[in-house]
Amino acid sequence: MSNALLADARKRLEKARKYVSLSEDAIERLKYPKTSLSVSIPVRMDDGSLRIFQGYRVRYDDTRGPGKGGVRYHPNVSMDEVQSLAFWMTFKAALVNLPFGGAKGGITLDPKELSRQELERLSRGYIEAIADFIGPDIDILAPDVYTNAMIMGWMMDQYSIIKRKISPAVVTGKPLTMGGSKGRSSATGTGAFYVINAILPKFEQLPETTTVAVQGFGKVGAVLAELLSKAGYKVVAVSDSKGGIYAEKGLDIPSIRQYKDEHRGIKAVYCKDSVCNIVEHQVITNAEILTLDVDVLIPAALENQITEANAPDVKAKFIFEVANGPTTSDADKILEQKGIHVFPDILVNAGGVTVSYFEWVQNRSGLYWPLQEVNQRLKEKIVAEMQETWSIAQELSVSMRTAAYIHALNRLGEALDAKGTRDYYADESIL
Ligand code: NAD
Repeated sequence: MSNALLADARKRLEKARKYVSLSEDAIERLKYPKTSLSVSIPVRMDDGSLRIFQGYRVRYDDTRGPGKGGVRYHPNVSMDEVQSLAFWMTFKAALVNLPFGGAKGGITLDPKELSRQELERLSRGYIEAIADFIGPDIDILAPDVYTNAMIMGWMMDQYSIIKRKISPAVVTGKPLTMGGSKGRSSATGTGAFYVINAILPKFEQLPETTTVAVQGFGKVGAVLAELLSKAGYKVVAVSDSKGGIYAEKGLDIPSIRQYKDEHRGIKAVYCKDSVCNIVEHQVITNAEILTLDVDVLIPAALENQITEANAPDVKAKFIFEVANGPTTSDADKILEQKGIHVFPDILVNAGGVTVSYFEWVQNRSGLYWPLQEVNQRLKEKIVAEMQETWSIAQELSVSMRTAAYIHALNRLGEALDAKGTRDYYADESIL
């Protein structure tokens, strides 16, 4: 099994560790996932045949609380990818100070090839397979790439059937009618928007004079593109898995979202009511969107998009990582040399897990909050942690990525200390 992605993710840990007083033991522990489960899920297809799908759930670390992390449905899902995503979740939850560890799950498939009924049987089958591994106090699921509220609803329902009690807090990102939180579906994009709006003024970069390109017009990228465009930023390019569109004078993001909702694809359109007309634009590839001459680049699709190969051609001044792991560690060095400011995934996209935490709290208390309260709490939390990360970066003259890992590692270290496990084997007095 290749573990190239996890090996690259660990390099961020190595870089930050020299600024943190953590024992060898603690660092060593954080290099490996605590538990990794691999399951085969048999699904009866609509044509009567049986297909076996490969699924995973990884609990990377639970020192600070139950595991927390999304479930991805994608053809490239592998154990290496799920372990890496669970690694990032561990540092993200610590960075925004949530009482959670890091986890992640996934199934290797192209969900576009399955009917809705097949998807439901697969999602319920996945929960059957991992039910003993998860729980509201053990490991909590959420949506990720190509999963959504409907799938989370099936998963929560299946878990409740197995446990013979309604258990909303085992899954977040559920439909509102099943205990979902207001603001969860837009939380990751909204959190990223708060971070961007708090950072750019530090560089005297104003919305009206800022051009933006967004790779990945999904649940997160589309919400963020619309918030930015409403705030006066000029979003000039967006893309999805099939490719992208570019218009120098800016795109009408609400129209593109409307078109995408109706046709499951993106087109450069301007819509008035139900009539959408094509506007002047250029068709670009997903590779081209990354090297456009824009102020802000937002990778919001998948990992490993900005690599050693294309980093020299990146022209943006700022990169806000909304996807998990879009930049490799080799690319990081090149971007740094070029003076490009990179704001890391574990900070920029932490809005999702933050509101997932709010949903879990609401499920357990039975008291549901209005949208305004959810967004206010999200803003306070993510901006405060951004400012702390910024201060660390300034004080130690390190990148925002290294500062974010230092901040998270300090919290993980405190938790390891509190549990008395940090130097367990080194402390001879207890032997
Ligand atoms: P999504 O499935 O809603 O959207 C993914 C988008 O990426 C789609 O528009 C898809 O067409 C596009 N895409 C797929 N392959 C692509 C490719 N090769 N090039 C360009 N675009 C491609 O997923 P999402 O929930 O929006 O997640 C996007 C990223 O954000 C992922 O990295 C995910 O891990 C991360 N993230 C999501 C959340 C969340 O709350 N959903 C939270 C934190 C981080």
